[in-house]
Amino acid sequence: MAAPLLHITAKKQFEDFSLDISETLKLEGTTAIFGPSGSGKTTLLRLIAGFDAPDNGLIKLGDTVFYTDTQRINLPAHRRHIGFLFQNTSLFPHLTVKGNLDYADTRRSATNTSSYDKDDIIHEFDLLSLMDRRTGTLSGGEAQRVALARALLTRPHILLLDEPLSALDIARKADILPFLKTLPRRFGVPLLYVSHDLEEVSYLADKVILFDNGRVTAKGGAIKMLNTLQDSFSGQDSSSGLTAPTTFIEACVQTHNVTEGLTYVTWGTQTLCLPLNESLRKGTQLRLQLRARDVALAKSKPKGLSLRNILPARIVTLSQKTHDPFCDVVLSIDDQILTARLTRAAITDLALKPKQRVYALIKAVSFYNPLT
Ligand code: ADP
Ligand code: MG
Repeated sequence: MAAPLLHITAKKQFEDFSLDISETLKLEGTTAIFGPSGSGKTTLLRLIAGFDAPDNGLIKLGDTVFYTDTQRINLPAHRRHIGFLFQNTSLFPHLTVKGNLDYADTRRSATNTSSYDKDDIIHEFDLLSLMDRRTGTLSGGEAQRVALARALLTRPHILLLDEPLSALDIARKADILPFLKTLPRRFGVPLLYVSHDLEEVSYLADKVILFDNGRVTAKGGAIKMLNTLQDSFSGQDSSSGLTAPTTFIEACVQTHNVTEGLTYVTWGTQTLCLPLNESLRKGTQLRLQLRARDVALAKSKPKGLSLRNILPARIVTLSQKTHDPFCDVVLSIDDQILTARLTRAAITDLALKPKQRVYALIKAVSFYNPLT
């Protein structure tokens, strides 16, 4: 199916919270809705799924109107053909895994001519050995795999996920994330993924919608959006889990040099060196992170250094809070943005100013991917 357009204009007032949104979203791959706790993310998904109605507005997917106050349409949830997965999976406890999947298969949407069948799903989610188990005996990670399989077996047009991994520990998360990553392309189902975990979002999302206080504050490509978050998180603890600026980097694997022990990737027009990882296939898109505190600056191109990455850069801004001992320097490297955290002493010593040309120095081992 071509990328469906989800249109939602909705107002919803609770006692001391209001949601007010008007957006048309082209759902392709994974769209993440990222925002702090209490910002209205779950409320938004409930309106789309049909578990709740807005006070007024229009919600439609493609040509199918889910809700409109003008024509008094409010399509019941089961007729919207939307799959959902929440933190607590709500599998049927009296049924086995097989029973849960069979039930979903009978509830499939007749209008979705998907190319996959039950066996594909059982294989994809590695569920064969679990089929006769009662769902109450499954581990958290297994239960989420079954719930995801069950959601897909209803052949939904879109899949809504509300912090589905937040109850799992980091190892279980790392088990499930690869399934989620491939799911939109493998099964042709776009995901709308709510999370307040930056690591998950940076791993999964193609597009990001920033949500705060019941409103969309920004939306765009995932890497760009994640990097714009730096401004608001700079130097302070935040619910995102970032305690200091981090640059998100989308790189493409070029070559491995076994003799040197390095893997070369491109980032925009630049080439970066990482520690050798031959399991990465050439052409693979990688999402990496780099902490601002791991970036140093030099005014001229240094020689005789152990550092593998020396990138010509230009200072965009220097931001320093009055009593902080450090200063965050935002750099542009071609059209990419990178943040370096230096001490105040270093800024004074090098007399760094906006627009100045410098070199960003980064150790190959400083790039990391927290989920792999
Ligand atoms: P999030 O999922 O981003 O954490 P929610 O959508 O769950 O946020 O909640 C947003 C706000 O709306 C919260 O302040 C919450 O207390 C309030 N809220 C949610 N559902 C209801 C409800 N049924 N009645 C009253 N207030 C609600
Ligand atoms: Mg929520």
